Amino acid sequence: MSDAYGQLLDATIQHLEDLKSRGARHVAIAPETLRALAQPGSQKSEAGSQKPELAGGNFPPNALSRKPPEQKSLLALPGETVPSETPPLDPAAKSAAFAALRERALACVKCPHLASSRKTVVFGVGSIDAQLMFVGEAPGADEDEQGEPFVGRAGQLLTKIIETMGLQRGDVYIGNILKCRPDTPGQSAGNRKPTPDEMATCIPYLHEQIDLIRPKALVALGATAVEGLLGKTIGITKLRGTWKTYRGIPLMPTYHPAYLLRNQAMSEKRKVWEDMLAVMEKLGMPVSQKQRNYFLKA
Ligand code: URA
Repeated sequence: MSDAYGQLLDATIQHLEDLKSRGARHVAIAPETLRALAQPGSQKSEAGSQKPELAGGNFPPNALSRKPPEQKSLLALPGETVPSETPPLDPAAKSAAFAALRERALACVKCPHLASSRKTVVFGVGSIDAQLMFVGEAPGADEDEQGEPFVGRAGQLLTKIIETMGLQRGDVYIGNILKCRPDTPGQSAGNRKPTPDEMATCIPYLHEQIDLIRPKALVALGATAVEGLLGKTIGITKLRGTWKTYRGIPLMPTYHPAYLLRNQAMSEKRKVWEDMLAVMEKLGMPVSQKQRNYFLKA
């Protein structure tokens, strides 16, 4: 089996598992797709070769009907920003799908080194009906201990930001690119950035969380969150403050609260605050004059 075919098969299996967890019981598959999947040796590199196409990933309007929709690739791989066209689940099915997803994540051992070093799997916290979702990098020691994202110093600052917006933590959903704390062998403290492999392995859980929650806006906290969601490795300084799109959902990149703890300058706080004002406006939230003026120099 070629590497490419193996990767495609793995992605297909993962994708089908994701769909099943979201309640899908049928997918439309073109006959030529089935033939191509059955013949790994027949993969050709030239344009027009039989590329397996699997309908249902983003549930285009007719994905569950028998006629295969005409799309180039319906496999939403990590990093792709294809709008999700999945019809919303009813509340009971949504809760069940979310609980099932949580169960799978809590039992995950795809990164054996992290599974053996973690104390808890930090799945996420907040309302599954939230209009606003914050995405961070990975749990730190405090989060690993408590099983909840953003509870350490940076987390307390994030909570303040959320409250300054006029919301409570329970009104939003907070998740991370990685569900396990990146291990730091030989170190008793400190954090490290997730590796690209760890991110690629874990990100499908976050994609599913977002697909189920369907927030109206996403905030990516720091460069790793942007990289995980958009596949962009451009510096956060360049990206922050400009709307991006993740699967049709407006995404605001901003600085990670840990950065604000390191750099206490009023100007940096104001930048993050301006990003939050833009988010509030996008969501149609009321913004008072007092809120507008926070962190402006006197
Ligand atoms: N930093 C993150 O990115 N996520 C957490 O959950 C905590 C700190």
